[in-house]
Amino acid sequence: MIIKEIFLEKVSTASASITRDVTCPFCGILCDDLVIKNQQESLKILENGCHKAVSSFESILAVNEPKINGKPVALTDAINEMCAILKKSHAPLIAGLGSDVAGIREIMNLADKTGAVIDHMHGNALIRNSLVLQDLGWITTTMTEIRNRADLIIFAGTDATGFPRFFERAIWNKKSMFKLKNEQREIVYIGEKLNTKSGVNPNGKKPSVLTCKTDQIGEVISSLHALVTGATLDVNEVAGIKIKTLQELGKKMMAAKYGVIIWSPADLDIPHAELTIQNFCEIVKYLTRTTRFAGFSLGGNDGAITANNVCAWQSGYPLRVNYNKGYPDYDAQRYSTQNVLKKKEVDSLLWISSFNSKVNPPRASVPTIVMATPDTKLNFTPDVFIPVATPGVDHAGQLFRTDSVISLPLKQVRQSPYTSVKSILKQAIERM
Ligand code: SF4
Repeated sequence: MIIKEIFLEKVSTASASITRDVTCPFCGILCDDLVIKNQQESLKILENGCHKAVSSFESILAVNEPKINGKPVALTDAINEMCAILKKSHAPLIAGLGSDVAGIREIMNLADKTGAVIDHMHGNALIRNSLVLQDLGWITTTMTEIRNRADLIIFAGTDATGFPRFFERAIWNKKSMFKLKNEQREIVYIGEKLNTKSGVNPNGKKPSVLTCKTDQIGEVISSLHALVTGATLDVNEVAGIKIKTLQELGKKMMAAKYGVIIWSPADLDIPHAELTIQNFCEIVKYLTRTTRFAGFSLGGNDGAITANNVCAWQSGYPLRVNYNKGYPDYDAQRYSTQNVLKKKEVDSLLWISSFNSKVNPPRASVPTIVMATPDTKLNFTPDVFIPVATPGVDHAGQLFRTDSVISLPLKQVRQSPYTSVKSILKQAIERM
């Protein structure tokens, strides 16, 4: 049986090979069931890819070369120039951090060696969660628990459209371990401008939608919190939502066998979003006195959860960290990419993005090195550009899923002329 499975994992013919159980690295839910055909290094998803996966895996591998000031050079020269910039720099910023476990480990080593500040391109979203976890703690769940147990799922300020297969993989699944049927699940959305189409049960039942502004979701949840504790609110509505509607939802929350509040920190782009997330986590804690309730954060695109986890286990802190004093100095606000560039606290920038060709580094008035996918269209000419391989496509690797409980192995599905972030940074460290 095992031999048969190994054999079936990669079937090669003279002209094509098919790889099964491929993990997709292009959003934080890391679907691990893709079937991909490689025909002369051109990829085609045969099963289970969403539109995002199709556009990422199936795009033709772009031809690009390392450059210094826009002029093509050999990789070794580009690495030498990168080393020269970083050696001269007193306070580098290493940002973007779109890489896998091995790449981030090497980034941490380079930060330690050069005294750099490190921040992820989704750092603003990451710290909204970190601040809550640090201040009050939280009870969160996993995709598997949602799939198998959740009977009430509240989407707070997000519709999960950035994670195209989330409903398919975690909610409207065909099987659950405890015979939970789709018709037993209740979906509720709270927020504004949410696409609620995916929340329609396969049997046609529509989700409940409570419309309010994103920056009022915290107020709605704290009112619900008051209601579930038995308090009376002497108002007719909260944030435009009738109090009767909130009372009904409060009753459903108390009656749920396994309720979940889902948020996406990136979608809560409001001042002090951490206070809104704190409201989610506090009502969850209250409800778990009498039933099972949990929070769930949807994020982790571009290796964000991976970068945060690796940073935590290597430095003792989540992102954002500064190694300039010779030890890791953590400050979630001060060491943001935007802040250290604006306040001129750094004198060079190394930007890394190995998954996403659409993201551009910030324009900085300091020497800038960009390590990005070969198809990245930069809107300026950096001092050094090095095209890099994508983990899970061009080389094997590992990434943490959005729920942070599992790191999934990434497979190499095509041959690539490009080098991994880890390998390039390792060479740079050896030369410095
Ligand atoms: S939902 Fe995300 S992980 Fe799954 S196939 Fe689409 S992009 Fe990839």
